[in-house]
Amino acid sequence: MTDTSASTSRMTNTGDTPRKPDDPCPDCGAAVPVDPRFATWCAACGWNADSGEPDPQPGRIGAFRIALARRHGEQLHEELVRDGDQLPRRDVHSVLSYALAGAVHLFTVALAVSGVLLVVLGWNTVVQPVIGLVLLVVAFALRPRLGRLPGDGVVLRRADAPALFTLLDEIADGVGTRAADAVVIDARFNASVSAYGWRRHRRVDIGLPLWATLAPQQRVALLGHEFGHYANGDTRHGLVIHTALRSLVTWYEVFTPARRNSRLVRADGLGELAQRAARPPAEAGLVRLAEALADVLMVLPRLAVLGVLRLLDHLTVRSAQRAEYLADRMAAGAGSSEAVVGLLDRLLTGEAVSNDLRTQAIRARTRLPGVDPKAVEAGLWTQLAARIASIPDREYDRLRRVSVLRGHAVDATHPPTHLRRALIADGGQLPATVVLDTDAAAAIDGELAPAHTRLAREVIRDL
Ligand SMILES: [Zn+2]
Ligand SMILES: [Zn+2]
Repeated sequence: MTDTSASTSRMTNTGDTPRKPDDPCPDCGAAVPVDPRFATWCAACGWNADSGEPDPQPGRIGAFRIALARRHGEQLHEELVRDGDQLPRRDVHSVLSYALAGAVHLFTVALAVSGVLLVVLGWNTVVQPVIGLVLLVVAFALRPRLGRLPGDGVVLRRADAPALFTLLDEIADGVGTRAADAVVIDARFNASVSAYGWRRHRRVDIGLPLWATLAPQQRVALLGHEFGHYANGDTRHGLVIHTALRSLVTWYEVFTPARRNSRLVRADGLGELAQRAARPPAEAGLVRLAEALADVLMVLPRLAVLGVLRLLDHLTVRSAQRAEYLADRMAAGAGSSEAVVGLLDRLLTGEAVSNDLRTQAIRARTRLPGVDPKAVEAGLWTQLAARIASIPDREYDRLRRVSVLRGHAVDATHPPTHLRRALIADGGQLPATVVLDTDAAAAIDGELAPAHTRLAREVIRDL
């Protein structure tokens, strides 16, 4: 799912300019309604619609990926509107991406093999086994991760949540894919699917802050979208490419000079180990020279890794974005087009949701007079749902404008949210094929009650 950023909704702020309630729009003079919970803005000319903080500057890889996301997102939207659904084909891009990912993994294997050979054959030298061990450590860090279930998270199996799994089975059946093996409930404003272990069991991650604010059919749409990823041949979710991308990011970190992360070092409490000022000037000069030399030595491998990473990204981003659009269409087939549009609007409220949770956590922790921390904890998710449900259409209208202005899509594998919404809202309207009725919804809520309690406690403790 993952668009959580297009969200400058504030439950408390009224904007920066001091205004009287009846003041007209300063730009066009139109009447501007005031709701003290939200930013004041003009629907006629757009004045103050996007009054939030500018987006944080992404890093080098991040900026490149955001640009890719926009370009492909717009192109694909045009194509899908024109040509209708097309399942991803095995085209040149996908063949090349598998070849490249294979080469990345082969490189890791070569490191491991060289490491073993150096240790075994060079045993009676001192240098070779040491180099061999270094290579083995690096190969270990780069190994493809198969994924696993979180040891300390909230994990639900079929027997723990029969009603939830009945719903999951119906949705998986509808989009034509295998059922889920485990559900992980967490505190993110998100949902996702992944595979784990050698046998590629299927795991669905559901973030309670998102789930709690969705209407029943929107929950069906959310799960329909996630299962859509299994059904539509999304290569980036596949083992080979996903693990290769992870290895490349690890490489990139290895070749990035540690000094650039000096703030992190200080946060780790290692600051005193790097006290250059205490050294005599000549020695400090030598250290700087050594650092500069190390930088020069790392520049080439870093650029090479960045190049391969960008290439693999480039080769797969387009198919990943197509997979997102198709997953939205599958979600509409399961939960209805209307539910998907509602879901995509809800994704714009991420900031309102996290502000609300933070406010409640602070209320519970500061023990203000008249505030019962136990009651805050017990009502955390229902209160959140009620407050998000009370967001008026006018605020959604503003959030959608912000989404268009900023082209939000958090990460490059997702097209901009407003284009995803437009594809479903303007396309043929599909009815629901999976209906989550009141009884089933209540049964699922009951099964999730222990998760509600545990995550409410964690949110109040940690946020
Ligand atoms: Zn998705
Ligand atoms: Zn105006």
